[in-house]
Amino acid sequence: MKAIIIGAGIGGMSTALALGRCGYDAEVYEAVKEIKPVGAAISVWPNGVKCLNYLGLRDAVKALGGNMAWMAYRDFVSGNDMTRFSMAPLVSRVGESPYPVARAELQQLLIDSYPAEKIHFGKRVCRVVQDAEGVSVWFDDNSHARGDFLIAADGTHSVVREYVREIPTERRYAGYVNWNGLVTIDESIAPADQWTTYVGEGKRVSLMPVSGNRFYFFFDVPLPKGLPEDRSTVKEDLKGYFRGWAEPVQRLIDTIDPQTTNRVEIHDIEPFMEFVKGRVALLGDAAHSTTPDIGQGGCAAMEDAVVLASVLASHSLGIEDSLLRYQQRRNERVKDLILKARKRCDVTHAKDPQVTAAWYQALTREDGVNVLAGMCETIEGGPLG
Ligand code: FAD
Repeated sequence: MKAIIIGAGIGGMSTALALGRCGYDAEVYEAVKEIKPVGAAISVWPNGVKCLNYLGLRDAVKALGGNMAWMAYRDFVSGNDMTRFSMAPLVSRVGESPYPVARAELQQLLIDSYPAEKIHFGKRVCRVVQDAEGVSVWFDDNSHARGDFLIAADGTHSVVREYVREIPTERRYAGYVNWNGLVTIDESIAPADQWTTYVGEGKRVSLMPVSGNRFYFFFDVPLPKGLPEDRSTVKEDLKGYFRGWAEPVQRLIDTIDPQTTNRVEIHDIEPFMEFVKGRVALLGDAAHSTTPDIGQGGCAAMEDAVVLASVLASHSLGIEDSLLRYQQRRNERVKDLILKARKRCDVTHAKDPQVTAAWYQALTREDGVNVLAGMCETIEGGPLG
């Protein structure tokens, strides 16, 4: 059985590895000649880590991950902790640690773990056709490939999605801009073993440790879409948006390198239920795009890969039935993640300022129990428990 996988991102490469483990011959076709990930880093929560463990990458992921032993929210003006608590109860309840990792390193790990001759770069899919025996796909260099089935992990701007859904899909602007990058750890900005988030005015500044003595940082600001801002103005822009914020935030802005700081207008996609058309299935952001507010988009793509492999592993159902079973096992889960992230997004970014003010108040009374319970529920909803 030959699988065609479109896209060599987190979703596509996890799928290739997962299908390879259960005996499928999977070839990956990636549009770009060299992968340049959109963000600097991602937090892989324990549900995602369990998927990477399943793919045989346990030690490698641990080596890339930062030590996020503590979590704290800080007041935006004073810089004082509003709450600070250990992540140990989460780790002991769900049985695995979260690992913030540099995105390029995770991406490289996934690619290096799969046979190089089975990953084809510079192959942008433009047409998909299927018949009773298989799927044919054409690329923009006029080459083509054929397989028994096709998994489209071609990201949030997926072209295969319209083929599957038979209607165009709009992305929804979530109302805020995110800047992200990596800096050397500076403990005058935040402790090296803590996920620290400064909050106020519906904005946030967050720092997570990754390996190699680095912080993954991000800034969120509610803003209209399409402002004429780019890397050339990043420091002035951030200085303006965070005027009056605590000294460590100012120091962070002074420290960042504009050339490696990404600016992303955050979007999601209204959840939909159709991931499959015959022998073609959507996976990862192509099937479900979420805001990053609960850090679950990439984790969900890995979960998709594990579930897809598990339904195809027995080889007892036909391809089309297996793909439908994959759809059935995934669409409610990912709808839940998208809506949870959207809710968190709205509270964090002051869609209703009164609700956000109440959240800031609640943080000053938080001992970690409520925050960790919410995270555990999300994590335990994954396919590996
Ligand atoms: P992508 O990573 O987008 O990969 C798609 C691939 O398909 C790309 O390589 C692309 O070049 C290729 N492609 C596109 N079109 C074609 C075509 N026509 N033909 C062939 N190839 C094609 N997730 C988390 O789990 N934790 C986090 O902390 C987190 N933080 C985030 C922060 C930000 C700012 C953002 C924007 C996202 C974050 N995410 C996070 C979400 C995560 O990045 C995505 O969910 C994840 O990258 C999706 O992987 P994917 O493989 O489905 O898509």
